[in-house]
Amino acid sequence: LVRFDKVVKRYGDHTVLDQLEFSVERGEHVTLIGPSGSGKTTILRLLMTLEKVSDGVIWINGEPLTHVRAPDGSLRPASEKHLRAARRRIGMVFQQFNLFPNMKVLQNITEAPVNVLGMDRDKAETRARELLDLVGLSGKVDAHPSQLSGGQQQRVAIARALAMEPEILLLDEVTSALDPELVAGVLELLSDIARNTDITMLCVTHEMNFARDVSEKVLMFDAGRVVESGSPEKIFSDPSHERTREFLNAVL
Ligand code: ATP
Repeated sequence: LVRFDKVVKRYGDHTVLDQLEFSVERGEHVTLIGPSGSGKTTILRLLMTLEKVSDGVIWINGEPLTHVRAPDGSLRPASEKHLRAARRRIGMVFQQFNLFPNMKVLQNITEAPVNVLGMDRDKAETRARELLDLVGLSGKVDAHPSQLSGGQQQRVAIARALAMEPEILLLDEVTSALDPELVAGVLELLSDIARNTDITMLCVTHEMNFARDVSEKVLMFDAGRVVESGSPEKIFSDPSHERTREFLNAVL
């Protein structure tokens, strides 16, 4: 479903992703781990088309994400319109929830389906209520984000991402801004979503137990490259690479 093909991302003369290659199959739940600054967030931002690749191509379903094929077969950078269409297939939940503070919970969820997908407002509201039920917040339809706890805001952000019916859900350290007692509930919700939907998930997290429970594949990054990848059992119990051992010793 997703393939990074020699992807390079530079900021000035700082190379963050260095000829990065990896792929994710449809329906897979993949956890990205690695030291701070290894490029994990940059990968998600590239997939969200919030950043542009410096070189290489990201393929989604065999189509280039940020390029279009010219008649002669070569790849040209895509237009903003093409990028907007590509972005619809991908949902992202951020560390800092990023809800619209001036909108009620329900409107936070219906805004994009109505304005981006052109969904009928009644239909969007019905779906939003179902999603709020799913994330355990059916009583908070009319609340404003500021009236919710961090954990509740993050649940709304998850519902908002799901409302776009994305093929791929990107999760960027979604529990790291939460009070410790709220973390387990949000992780439990994400485990349920992973088990009960066919959404492909790419998840940057420092929660190794979550990685173990939810993902089939762990990718260990260092300095903008995949150092190793494998099942959580393999990576956590028997890593092949010294860099992975060092990292796991530091975080576990
Ligand atoms: P963390 O776990 O700390 O979030 P990460 O693995 O997600 O780290 P990234 O956030 O992808 O790492 O950042 C990788 C590198 O890119 C860092 O060195 C960072 O300083 C640099 N970087 C990221 N965004 C920018 C930017 N907009 N301009 C310049 N440098 C940037």
